[in-house]
Amino acid sequence: MVIAANPGFPRIGPKRELKKAVEKYWSGKTSESEMLAVCRSLRKNAWLLQKEIGIDHIPSGDFSLYDHVLDTIAMVGCIPERYGWNGGKVDLGKTYFAMARGTAKGEATQSRPKAHAMEMTKWFDTNYHYIVPEFSSAQKFRFSSARVIDEFAEAKELGIITRPVLIGPVSFLLLGKSKDKSLVNPLSLLEKLLPVYEEVLKKLSDAGAEWVQMDEPFLALDTDKKSQKAFKHAYAGLAGSVPNIKLLLATYFDSLKENISVVSGLPVAAVHMDIVRAPQQLDEALERIDENQLLSLGVVDGRNVWRTDLDEALAIVKRAVNALGSDRVMISPSCSLLHVPVDLDLETGIDAELRGWLAFAKQKLEEVVTLSLAAGGSFSKVEKTFAENRTLMESRKSSPRIHNESVKKRLLDLNGNVPHQRGSRETRREVQQKRLGLPMFPTTTIGSFPQTKDVRSTRADLKAGRIDEDTYNAFIREIIKRTIGFQEQTGIDVLVHGEFERNDMVEYFGELLEGFAITKNGWVQSYGSRCTKPPVIYGDVYRAKPMTVEWAGYAQSLTEQPVKGMLTGPVTILQWSFVRNDQARSETCKQISLAIRDEVLDLEAAGIGIIQIDEPALREGLPLRRRDWDSYLSWAVEAFRMASSGVKDETQIHTHMCYAEFNDIIEHIAAMDADVISIETSRSQMEILGAFTRFKYPGEIGPGVYDVHSPRVPPLEEMESLLIKALEVLSPQQIWVNPDCGLKTRGWDEVRAALAVMVEAAKNLRRIAEEKNTAKQTA
Ligand code: GLN
Ligand code: ZN
Repeated sequence: MVIAANPGFPRIGPKRELKKAVEKYWSGKTSESEMLAVCRSLRKNAWLLQKEIGIDHIPSGDFSLYDHVLDTIAMVGCIPERYGWNGGKVDLGKTYFAMARGTAKGEATQSRPKAHAMEMTKWFDTNYHYIVPEFSSAQKFRFSSARVIDEFAEAKELGIITRPVLIGPVSFLLLGKSKDKSLVNPLSLLEKLLPVYEEVLKKLSDAGAEWVQMDEPFLALDTDKKSQKAFKHAYAGLAGSVPNIKLLLATYFDSLKENISVVSGLPVAAVHMDIVRAPQQLDEALERIDENQLLSLGVVDGRNVWRTDLDEALAIVKRAVNALGSDRVMISPSCSLLHVPVDLDLETGIDAELRGWLAFAKQKLEEVVTLSLAAGGSFSKVEKTFAENRTLMESRKSSPRIHNESVKKRLLDLNGNVPHQRGSRETRREVQQKRLGLPMFPTTTIGSFPQTKDVRSTRADLKAGRIDEDTYNAFIREIIKRTIGFQEQTGIDVLVHGEFERNDMVEYFGELLEGFAITKNGWVQSYGSRCTKPPVIYGDVYRAKPMTVEWAGYAQSLTEQPVKGMLTGPVTILQWSFVRNDQARSETCKQISLAIRDEVLDLEAAGIGIIQIDEPALREGLPLRRRDWDSYLSWAVEAFRMASSGVKDETQIHTHMCYAEFNDIIEHIAAMDADVISIETSRSQMEILGAFTRFKYPGEIGPGVYDVHSPRVPPLEEMESLLIKALEVLSPQQIWVNPDCGLKTRGWDEVRAALAVMVEAAKNLRRIAEEKNTAKQTA
């Protein structure tokens, strides 16, 4: 028999039930027990569904009220001091959600101090964010949450012996951050942490668990000797102390590569690897895996929404079965299904042909079971499914909806050469200055203005057909008009239209570009209760007609000052969509670049003198292994240039990124050749500008002076001192003055106040610079 396994099911529910329940609880509209009842029913439905589908290894402990790393923090009692935890069982209200979200002023009491939330960061190369564990040298660990054990028991009551999922101890430490200088390497805490894991495993064993899945994603990354040693030490200890539990070591998102020799030497019963992301690792694994170990093959893509080519997957599985025997093979999605939506059956708005090419979590598990039956000697049972799958795969290969000859030809004609036609930075700077006549330290914003309730509800009205397009457009024009007026009055130099017509910076373009489909319920968890709905890129991408020109043109018609056109960049559109898997990502990216290039040229022709192409996702697209960085960076940078380089020298190109951790990629950022870049710097007090001392950035830069993630309006002195700090590493001619990011989540009152201060700060800086200049001249 070939085991059908699942490393994790989406938690949010088919229609984001979790989000709704948790947010209602946060706002005080439901009790904790009511909220938990919703969660129990979500888990129950997921377990029963997986059982019905025929999954042998059904996960438990994969559910989370907020984040699975936070759950592990609670499990091992690694609660930062500032939450005033008393060391007992980690409670939800006072501790768990406080770590996730911070405690607001009003909620703080003596036993619950006011404390800011824990830091959040991206889970490897996904768009899921986890809570970063905080460690100190005096760190203690203690078993403090029985959630995994309780949930195992909960499933057992339904008659299901699940495979509990834990983040392995080594990855848990590597995910965290040391909060004091004397703790140089969190791995040195391993010895203290292991007893808690032993205790958890013993409890699971007592409760009746046979298998436990230990997620150790760091095994698929570049490892050093220290972490390799840590893996060996941790698993030797755990396997020895709980001999009747079978451990499955799960890796994903990249290849084990050299770490195959680490895992084959570990006393674990099975190893899971991601065959979708890294198919080439199979052969070596088959050769080198220990004869006592099972191999779990992640052949169904857990990161994307495409139906699996069953013939192809079966051929891979058969190689493993031939080498190891069917008793040593498991079939599984490549990683937890956390990263895909729950159920394609809910997508009634997508036509049958496209739906035929897609698979969400539920459908992927059906594929896993089909493959396990076929590989386990019951092919006749699934013969029909294979035949149907073949037809669907064929139709996808040849469908004119996917393959557009003129798009392909356009790229082919370019023959890899992007038509770069812009002059040098110096020439551009000169003609742009002449055209725009901007003062020193020009002020601008990143693009969006508050998406207030009325904006969102009016868009909902349009979608639901309660109002017509004309009414909607008139409404948006009215707000644009007010926003332009506001910016003029405030004294901002480069204006924006405010992006009121956009629900989301990627979905908006997904709706307008060809080759994209938008789902109704295709949500995936981004962080906590936040979900995103990535568009699906299924076919060759092109732009059928202008997308933003009317809005930008209208805004420009209202003012003498320059209005900046706003676009989302090709890499970010790619990164935040479900991308087709029948061609290289770089190829799809090039198609998007050309579409954006067309839009850029139309904006220019419409008289827009400044165009911003946002690339907030450029850095997160970096491959997990360093040796793959250069090839990614070269096509990503080229994609931006392809989108932006068609304009005349007098048209100014801006880009924006929501971070400034540039140290290791700053040369590439410079190679994008944007005239101006705006970045996030205010939260780090400009410390982050360190990168710019090592490398002299050749363009203009707007280091954010206003943290848009906080409702706080910074005082004038603060913005000024940030700018003065920036002057230590940048020249006065280089600096723009702007917030860290778009203002769409802020309220108008805050925005009005903060931007007025920002303009004031810029003016003061101009004065200071002028005084210095005159002083120099007279001296
Ligand atoms: N132009 C976008 C905005 O202002 C940029 C958003 C982002 O960087 N994530 O909202
Ligand atoms: Zn941003």
